[in-house]
Amino acid sequence: MPITLEQLNRASQADAAQMLDGLYEHSPWIAEQALAQRPFQSLAHLKHALCEVLAHAGRDAQLGLIRAHPELAGKAMVSKTLTAESTNEQSKAGLTDCTPEEFAKIQKLNADYNAKFGWPFILAVRGPRGVGLGKKQIIDAFERRLFGHPDMELQECLRNIHRIVEIRLNDKFGVEPTLGHQVWDWQEKLAQHSDPGFAELGQLTVTYLTDAHRACAQRITQNMRDCGFDQVYTDAVGNVVGRYQPATAGAKYLMTGSHYDTVRNGGKYDGRLGIFVPMACVQQLHQQGKRLPFGIEVVAFAEEEGQRYKATFLGSGALIGQFNPAWLDQQDADGITLRAAMQHAGLCIDDIPKIQRDPAQYLGFVEVHIEQGPVLNEMNIPLGVVTSINGGVRYQCEMIGTASHAGTTPMDRRRDAACAVAELALYMEQRAAQDGDSVATIGQLQVPNGSINVVPGRCLFSLDMRAPTDAQRDALVADVMAQLDQIVERRGVRVKVELTMSAAAAPSAPEWQARWERAVSALGVPLFKLPSGAGHDAMKLHEVMPQAMLFVRGENGGISHNPRESTTSDDMQLCVDAFTHVLHQLTTELS
Ligand SMILES: [Zn+2]
Repeated sequence: MPITLEQLNRASQADAAQMLDGLYEHSPWIAEQALAQRPFQSLAHLKHALCEVLAHAGRDAQLGLIRAHPELAGKAMVSKTLTAESTNEQSKAGLTDCTPEEFAKIQKLNADYNAKFGWPFILAVRGPRGVGLGKKQIIDAFERRLFGHPDMELQECLRNIHRIVEIRLNDKFGVEPTLGHQVWDWQEKLAQHSDPGFAELGQLTVTYLTDAHRACAQRITQNMRDCGFDQVYTDAVGNVVGRYQPATAGAKYLMTGSHYDTVRNGGKYDGRLGIFVPMACVQQLHQQGKRLPFGIEVVAFAEEEGQRYKATFLGSGALIGQFNPAWLDQQDADGITLRAAMQHAGLCIDDIPKIQRDPAQYLGFVEVHIEQGPVLNEMNIPLGVVTSINGGVRYQCEMIGTASHAGTTPMDRRRDAACAVAELALYMEQRAAQDGDSVATIGQLQVPNGSINVVPGRCLFSLDMRAPTDAQRDALVADVMAQLDQIVERRGVRVKVELTMSAAAAPSAPEWQARWERAVSALGVPLFKLPSGAGHDAMKLHEVMPQAMLFVRGENGGISHNPRESTTSDDMQLCVDAFTHVLHQLTTELS
């Protein structure tokens, strides 16, 4: 019989500890201490209380817990002395029937890992969906983490232990994150479509209007219809729009959504999560036969990443009347113009101005997105409320010095273009760090036609600077530019600077941010607020209507724009629950 939260909250300390027995491997003290936080508002609340106990237990206790774990496919498995929980997990991941080669490989990894770190490798082998990772995924994770820094690896082990516990708790309480699984499965299915050249390698790349891109649009369309949206169509730029009508005709709509294109060799959740989470909510409403006092419009934006054409935010931009006709003549790497690609996809260019929305017909815009950073993951917090989307500027620059003989030019007579840029890079690193939440990057840095024996005469480089407010960003840019002038002057080189992008910061609308905050708190998840370092479709809608975003934590250190990008179906379930809560709040406010 699964236990209920109410039973746990009401039980004596001893009985409650018994209910949570076996959660942490041979370490009942963690659950015992967490029980002091009763009553728990939700399972998410209990999970966080457990994380907190371990976070404050000190390094020795943390190491003790890690060392209480068996090795993967190790001696305990062979001699059948694993705990029931571990046996269940290792067999779900197929580790109980390894081939002799796989077994030997894992044994070697176990030995190498132990020798390096002094504790066993910990991986939540049931994975983000709870059904078990493949043996290849396990071995890949093992090999990658062998190169980790010990402090970070210790934390990664603890996070994996918490994930193991999360699944054990779900089993104990008989809880399945059903809607989270649904969202996870939709994303998995959508990730089957990938552009040629990447698909063969098992990599996910979906760029604007390729065959894979149009297949994605098709699949999202069908998913939306199956969920019970009243109207589903593809608009003039390829956005897939699903509308769920309000209870009364003429009522306003809530707009939400995110993008379905990806970067090259990207992750499965970036963008797509923000399409499927509200879809799951609409599916629920439809199944319950419910209409709200407002409509819901979910937009799957066709283009956000600017990969095939330099037309970043084309999808959301078109909705606010910012489609630039000059883009139509841009060519992709194969010489295909944007115009030709759109015509080939059956999109009607003349209709683009017609898709501009009238903001008066909308309540506002919300977007759910994977964090794409390490913050929530490090803090063991599943959801984060976004306070602002950072404003950013980008420049393409050229430093011009004098190319000269690397052997004969004395150090004090050089006009080294690369050293000048290097000096700027180091300055930017420390200047951005001073703000705490500004970031500055030189992501491109090359010496064209450089030679091993020539002092660099030219250096091409980029600048990317972002901050949560425009004032903070402008101050950062001003300091960096002043430093650049000084470097150029002192080193006797020249520089050409071209501004290629400037986007204003998009602070969340206070009333919309507050709705997300109430939703997160209602779930028993600790409230955490953070700015978004990355740009999102919400930035575009921000120009015409109030907006606010919700972030979900990423696994694997929060890595994104990378195939290792991941989040769990439990966290996705929390997103669906938070979104549903916002819908409830709006319903109450409008009734
Ligand atoms: Zn994105």
